[in-house]
Amino acid sequence: MSFTLIDLPYAPSALEPVISASTIGFHHGKHLQTYVNNLNGLIPGTPWENLPLEDIVKQSTGGVFNNAGQILNHNLYFLQFQAPKEGNVPVGKLAAQINEQWGSFDEFKKAFAAAGGSLFGSGWVWLGAAPDGSLQITQEPGAGNPVTKGLKPILTFDVWEHAYYLDYQNRRPEYIGQLWSILNWEELEKRYTK
Ligand code: MN
Repeated sequence: MSFTLIDLPYAPSALEPVISASTIGFHHGKHLQTYVNNLNGLIPGTPWENLPLEDIVKQSTGGVFNNAGQILNHNLYFLQFQAPKEGNVPVGKLAAQINEQWGSFDEFKKAFAAAGGSLFGSGWVWLGAAPDGSLQITQEPGAGNPVTKGLKPILTFDVWEHAYYLDYQNRRPEYIGQLWSILNWEELEKRYTK
């Protein structure tokens, strides 16, 4: 079995001006493709060969973990977006849980943005769900995914520089602030309630 690059459910320019077609081209077409190629080069003839991606991430270390983690992370990242929308807010059970734990969507956004802004170096900020449905914001360096902590990954912002440097240069907080308008909350609700 080998892994393949996911197709995006939107045109490369669909997320503009939040994420440019150029960034999508490099980030999805080059960076993610490289992780897919690397993993496919590493797993033949190993115990990882026929495992689902999430199982590889939970059980592996080193280069296999780094490449499998980056594929899982980027798949969740790219598939959570849609064209920019005014007044874009959470829906359903996920909205209710966010309000219960943070008091309001605005307070949640502040906490999530602070976690993303303060993560040192390359990594990911996540919203994950525990088996009881409670939510946790986690910072994961490198290729980290909260699935290794027993949390179901829901929402993630990629804070590696390659995710924002073409469009925002060093302004990571501005990139984080703009991403809220392109989240597909119906998709995130599906992840939460699945
Ligand atoms: Mn990335």
